[in-house]
Parts: sequence; C-alpha cells; structure tokens
Amino acid sequence: MNVHDDIVYLKGVGPAKAKVLAAELGIFTANDLLQYFPFRHIDRSKSTTVASLTEESGIVVLHGTMSNLAVVSIGPRRERLTVDFSDGTGSLQLAWFAGIKWVREKVKPGVTYTIIGKPSLFNGTWQMTHPEIEAESGDRRTDSGGFLPVYTTTDKMKQHGLGTRALARLTETLCGCISGIEETLPSDVLQRFHLMGRAEALKAIHYPDSPAQLEQARARLKFEELFFLQLDYQYAHAARLVRSQGLVFNTVGDHFNRFYSEKIPFPLTGAQKRVVREIREDMRSGRQMNRLLQGDVGSGKTLVALMSMLLALDNGCQACLMAPTEILATQHYNTFLRLLEGLDIRVELLIGSLRAADKKKTKQRIASGETHIVIGTHALIEDDVLFHRLGLVVIDEQHRFGVEQRAKLWAKGTPPPHILVMTATPIPRTLAMTLYGDLDCSVIDELPPGRQPVRTYHRTEPRRPLVFSFLRQQIDAGRQVYFVYPLIHENPKLDLRDLEDGLEMVQSYFPRPQYQVSLMHGQLSPEDKAFEMDRFKRGLTHIMVSTTVIEVGVDVPNATVMVIENAERFGLSQLHQLRGRVGRGAEQSYCILMTKDHLSTTSRERIRTMCSTTDGFEIAEADLRLRGPGDLQGLQQSGVLDLKLASIVDDEPLVQATRDLVRDLLAADPTLAAHPELRRHIEHSKNRLMWSKIS
Ligand code: ADP
Ligand code: MG
Repeated sequence: MNVHDDIVYLKGVGPAKAKVLAAELGIFTANDLLQYFPFRHIDRSKSTTVASLTEESGIVVLHGTMSNLAVVSIGPRRERLTVDFSDGTGSLQLAWFAGIKWVREKVKPGVTYTIIGKPSLFNGTWQMTHPEIEAESGDRRTDSGGFLPVYTTTDKMKQHGLGTRALARLTETLCGCISGIEETLPSDVLQRFHLMGRAEALKAIHYPDSPAQLEQARARLKFEELFFLQLDYQYAHAARLVRSQGLVFNTVGDHFNRFYSEKIPFPLTGAQKRVVREIREDMRSGRQMNRLLQGDVGSGKTLVALMSMLLALDNGCQACLMAPTEILATQHYNTFLRLLEGLDIRVELLIGSLRAADKKKTKQRIASGETHIVIGTHALIEDDVLFHRLGLVVIDEQHRFGVEQRAKLWAKGTPPPHILVMTATPIPRTLAMTLYGDLDCSVIDELPPGRQPVRTYHRTEPRRPLVFSFLRQQIDAGRQVYFVYPLIHENPKLDLRDLEDGLEMVQSYFPRPQYQVSLMHGQLSPEDKAFEMDRFKRGLTHIMVSTTVIEVGVDVPNATVMVIENAERFGLSQLHQLRGRVGRGAEQSYCILMTKDHLSTTSRERIRTMCSTTDGFEIAEADLRLRGPGDLQGLQQSGVLDLKLASIVDDEPLVQATRDLVRDLLAADPTLAAHPELRRHIEHSKNRLMWSKIS
C-alpha cells in the first residue's frame, strides 16, 4: 500500500470505519494513519500475575489458560461471551460483546495464551472486557511479542470497533505493507545528527523492537517536526528581508538631537541606548523594520518608543503609538506632551471617547500632516484614519491586541511603515527562538538605576489586620497604595458589587477625611477615569481601589504597595503585570497577594513563583510550564501547538539545534536551490500565517 492511498483500502478498514477515522482523527490516507502516533507502549515481555493485580494496574499482560466458555443472550440479537482465565495464581473472567464468533474459534482448552487488557474488580472478581488474546507458541521469546502501541481514541471510535487495540491491529497491518515513504531531511543532516531514516522511524514508532529503537524513532521524528517549524519561520523571515522595501531613515536630525541634549529627563540605561541603536540601524537599512521590543515592566520602553518616533519625524514622516486602553493612551499622551514641551512637535490623542466633532478635526490634521505624532487606542485603526505619511507604528503591550488589529495598522502607509511592537510579557526563550524566527528582537534587560526589587508576600484573611496596619504606615510615610480586584463574573454589575464591597472595607479601615480613596473600573466614563487617575497621580488620593483596568502601563512612581485580592484567580503574567505598577520609584515597594486558605496545586505554585522571583523571564517560563503553550497568547496561529511529539517546553536543546542548523543552511543556500526536497516542503507549507503579516 502506498502512503498516498486512501485509508479505506487498508485491510480491516472499509467504508464505515474510514468515515469514522476521517471524522474523529482527520485520517484520510495511509500516511495520516502512519502519522497517528501511539502515546505509549505496553511491553509484552513484562507480564504480571492475577494474584498481584490491583485497581491501579492499568493495562497488563498475563499468561494462562482458558476454560468454561459460555455465550448468553443479553437482548434481541445481542450476546455476551465469557470465559475463565487462570494463571495458577488466580483467575479472571474475560468478556466479549462483539466479535464473538472470532473468539469462539480462537479459544481452545489446554493452550497457553498471552492476554492484554485492563482488569477491573467487579463484585470481588477480576474481569476484563475485550482483551487482546494470542496463543503462545511455546517459546515466549519468539512470540510476536515486543511492544504493543497504545493510542488515544474517542468514544465514537470505540462504538465503531476502533478502540486502541483495533487501531494497533490496523497500524500493524499498515507497517507490514506500506511503501513510498520519502525521506524529508537532507542526507548530510541525517548523518551529522545520527538520525534514523524516516521510513524506519515511522514504523518503529508504532512497533519498535526495543526501547532503544523506540527512543531513536521518537528522536528522529521530533527533530523533523522542529526542523520544519524552523524552516517555515526562518525562510519567511529571510524572504521578507529580501522582499519588503522599507523607508530609509538615514537622518538623525533636530528633533532627535534636541530632545537628547535638552529634554531627556535622565540618562538612558545601557540597555536603552543599545536598543535605540538597534532600532536606528534597522530603520535606515532599506528594509522594513518588524521588531519586537521586550523589556520587563518598568524598564523604560516608553522612552525608547519616543526616541524612535523622533527619528521618523526627522525623516519627514509621521509616527503613531497604539495602546490597549484609554487610560494608558492618555498617560502616554501626557508623558509625550511633557517631554516634548518647547520642541516644535504636534502631538495628538485619538481615542474613542473624544467628541465626534473633535475626532473629525483630529483626523483632518492627521491626514494633512499637520499632526506629527498620534497616540491612541483602537480608534487609530478605523478605516477613516488616514495618514499623510506614516513612517513608524509603535504598538504598546502588543499581547493585548488581536491579529487583525495589528495587521490593519501595517496597511496604513505605502510603503508600509516600520513596526515596533513592545511587550512586558516576556516570551520564554525557547518560544522566542521558535516563533520569532520571523521577527527581529530587542531586549531591555536592565532596569533604571536605583530600583529595588519589589518584595512580595502571600497573606490570608486572618492576617488582614496586620496587612492594613502596614499599609497605614506606608501611607503615613507619604506613599500610595493600590487594591486590585479580579473580574470574576460574566456580569460586570456583579463584579462592580465585589469592588464596591472592597471599597467599603478599605474605607472602614481608612476613614475620610484623613485618607482619600479613588475608585477605578471599566464602567466609568472616560472623563471620570481620567479624573480619578489624575487625582491619584497628583497624590490627592492615597488609595486606588481598582479592577484590572490598571493592569498595564500605569505609571505612578510614588505608589509603593500593590494589594491583589483573590490573587489565586489571576494568571502568572497578569500578576506580574499588576506587580509592575509598583517599584517604579526609588522607595522600597511591596506586593501583597491575598488569597483564601486552601489553594489548588497550580494556584499555590503560581503564588510561590511570584513570591520567589521578580524576573519576568523566569515567570514566563514558569507560566509555560504550569499552563502548557496552549494558553499563551498569540500562539494559536503559530504552529507550535500542532507539534505531535516535540515539546517547546521540554525539548529546548533540540529547538536550539534545529534553529542553528536551519540558520546555517539558509545562509549557505538562501533560495534552497540545492535542497529541492526542502523547497518542495516550503511550497506546500501549512504554516502560511507568518508573523510578518500580523505584527
Ligand atoms: P515600561 O517599560 O514598563 O513601559 P516605562 O516606560 O513606563 O516602563 O518607564 C518606567 C519608569 O521608569 C517611568 O517612570 C520612566 O520615567 C522611568 N525611566 C525610564 N527610563 C529611565 C532611565 N533611563 N532612568 C531613570 N528612569 C527611567
Ligand atoms: Mg509601558
């Protein structure tokens, strides 16, 4: 049978089963079945005895004889066959509800059988339904033995006679007759990495001769997966560099220079300097920039964005910055106004809540080129926002935006503007290596001087009074405090009630007029939000009780304590973001995670991680470990989740090896002219959606 043949032609399949295989597992061809890997194997040589069975035994292998075969009717045209199995240490009842004719012919008295199945205890007797049975030839070592693959199946498959054992029979047949399996990796790669050939690996992963062979087969197939993932990304990256003509920003002019010499409020950190240089190089290279800027909360990304935007202005272009919330956009707008005061630069704010007439005028000034820098929210991507000459788009907290939203900004200039996406939610190294083959990456790995790491504590309800007296000390010393409540309900009104209960409690400990409290949540009007934010910023209120609307970006250096209520309900990256709201000034800051008493294992692990480190990368790795890559934002389109064997979390050395290999290979042969098999793969690649299109 050829790999491309329809699975219906495999002996034992037929039209009905073929339909189920297609519907349940997406298996249409022989090749598809071959690629449906078992999740484990049973070692038939490792048998056990009936006497030593326990409820936790799982699938076991037993050797023994059969007696007392009986068939009883259990309904119209339904029968049950039972037979007693005994191995000298005890006995077990085997039962069949289907395939009765076959069992009847197969079971003979006096013969020793190997049986494989999952025993269960029923009214004090061991039973096993639909076991695998096989007569032994006398010499156990030569029996068809070895390793039996175990597959994941669905209920629907089981109803159609396609349980794991049935699948194992199908793959066994298939491995015996398959032809036309092509090698996909170049032969020098096979040699250099001591990899098993593809045909051998695909058979051995189902029916290995030994654990060592199984390991080699898995290693080979993992390698292949990661290699092609890398090839897809890196090839797309290389192709974009050749293809995308970018605006050439080769002037460093007055805007940048005057800001740098007169306006900059503090010396840049070494990391900020390096990153500004990387961005500058990139924007004058003639290629369109597509760069990810990673930097932990508080590392000073805003300033880097501002200086990059000044470079665009120096080269006769406009620049815009998009932020995920109005609070954050407004804050950036105010920061920019303050920092650029006295320089002849027109900065405008474009957010949804502007009055229609104002919005219209703002858009006109953007279109005419009168406005140099636009800061805004999603309002920026509306179709009627036209730029005169857009040269640079900065996207803050990029993980908060959807794919299409980002793609729309990309389309607002011809040639397309340079793109800088910024994030404080670090991407674990292995992922960055995999995914950002297509995105250049800059990292601010240094905090401004004088920052002290935030101290984080876990507290439960009984210690609340102590927490509050600590807060009072801080406030009396002139500091400010956040209280954050999670969004719990689908219904915002109910969340609001939680928040208001919280507010009441806080106010009872911190009575007016001595203490002033601000309340912030998503339902407030934009004016009210701006008003509250402003009061807090200016130190007129001491405490901000808020939902997670303040999660990203908000910058009030005098705030030194972040209390997170129901902290067990937050994910790690969110906790990290929230904690990033404090520790932004010179004072020692604190984060207090309030939880209920009893926590699930993962909640406990999250809280423990938060208390033990402030390093965003470490937290991102822990997050990936605890949740698996499936939940990470932005990964849905990445192809990483389609990996069958390899794991981005556990196979870091292999990710690295394949990345380097592909890089060298493409450097030597950029068009893959010397590697027709790889070229073919690229042409048929499924990973069409590339980061270059979406960021
Ligand atoms: P983030 O990277 O989280 O967006 P911000 O850009 O908001 O961080 O910067 C955090 C704080 O650090 C701000 O108050 C900013 O003014 C300050 N800051 C930025 N760069 C420096 C620097 N080089 N030296 C001192 N403070 C800085
Ligand atoms: Mg920021």
